[in-house]
Amino acid sequence: MTAHTPPPPTMGCRNAPLLKERGQHEVFCGLTGIIWLHRKMQDAFFLVVGSRTCAHLLQSAAGVMIFAEPRFGTAILEESDLAGLADAQEELEREVDRLLARRSDIRQLFLVGSCPSEVIKLDLSRAAERLSAKYAPRVRVLNYSGSGIETTFTEGEDACLAAMVPALPASDERQLMMVGALPDVAEDQALDLLAQMGLTNVSVLPARNADTEVSVGPNTSFALTQAFLGGTHAALERRGARHIPAPFPFGEEGTTAWLRAVAQDFGIDQARVDAVTDAPRARARKAVAKAAETLSGKSLFFFPDSQMEIPLARFLTRECGMEALEVGAPYIHKALVAPDLDLLAEGPVISEGQDVELQLDRCRAAQPDLTVCGLGLANPLEAEGLCTKWAIELVFTPVHFYEQAGDLASLFARPLRRHDLLKLEAA
Ligand code: SF4
Repeated sequence: MTAHTPPPPTMGCRNAPLLKERGQHEVFCGLTGIIWLHRKMQDAFFLVVGSRTCAHLLQSAAGVMIFAEPRFGTAILEESDLAGLADAQEELEREVDRLLARRSDIRQLFLVGSCPSEVIKLDLSRAAERLSAKYAPRVRVLNYSGSGIETTFTEGEDACLAAMVPALPASDERQLMMVGALPDVAEDQALDLLAQMGLTNVSVLPARNADTEVSVGPNTSFALTQAFLGGTHAALERRGARHIPAPFPFGEEGTTAWLRAVAQDFGIDQARVDAVTDAPRARARKAVAKAAETLSGKSLFFFPDSQMEIPLARFLTRECGMEALEVGAPYIHKALVAPDLDLLAEGPVISEGQDVELQLDRCRAAQPDLTVCGLGLANPLEAEGLCTKWAIELVFTPVHFYEQAGDLASLFARPLRRHDLLKLEAA
């Protein structure tokens, strides 16, 4: 069997009507991003300024860190702080002094805002500025918000990267910036492909450590690897950099389109791209075809969660033969996902935001073969007999570029196979 990649649809979903919903939504907060960001930035420390709830969230989501010297922690706001009785700014600075005195390995410190710090209007940018001046050049101190009041779990990464952009040194060099925190294995593969195409002046945001030079300016073109980086996109444009619009590098088709868009921007001819990509494309097609045996013909419903929903729906419908019934995303940044919308055939409901009860009603009525949703919805839906996939796994697992295309498809095939087995056992 070969992978199923139909020609581009004559009518994609770029201009399809959007179902916009604003109501109760079920998502993790932006603090979750710390779990993958601290692995990526090896000399960074994330200090959440929050409550015991925030500390518990981090601890349970990142239990593995128990055996290592942690690179994140929580400065807990006590009741007296919340009541405005103590000077939280001073307390925070004392905490940072203690931390940096103990940990000479920390080169970047992120003060991460939370719901409680926002509620008491604790100005973390002021604290970051003061601490930066105090600890420069050894440590750079930045701040961003991971509060759950208005952010979803992937927006923590967006806020973090966007906070880094104004501090990047200026450069007039012609260069490519690859933007998004990818597992090292996927990032290395991408850099290798780009180098084979002749692109060597390439930087990555976020870099693995603070000493790696990442600069920006009017001759910087940037390509995003994650669909949730709307704030970072805007911050880079404010620094004069130019976005290369492209489908996201999921699957064989997405990866090829992404690489071609970059090549075109740098005047690299298609023959060279083809020579570099022919072999990995064939491997990706073969790997996807295997998982597509389970996925083909099955229907799919996305609850809004990671902001990766549109590119994933494109991959699953076009390369794995699935049928999308609804593709929900927390926010739809057309500047980022329009190339994926162009490739997604007309038909599914495209929804933005969430009113969870209404969406659950639509899902129950549609009875999809596979529902992609957050952890909070997965268990109740499984109990109702629906087969679900947790969206959060997609940010912890290497899923980008050619060599991971088969694994990406398998992530969706596995719950379907398990569901079929359970049905067989029950029969
Ligand atoms: Fe909860 Fe807000 Fe803390 Fe996130 S930031 S754990 S939503 S209190």
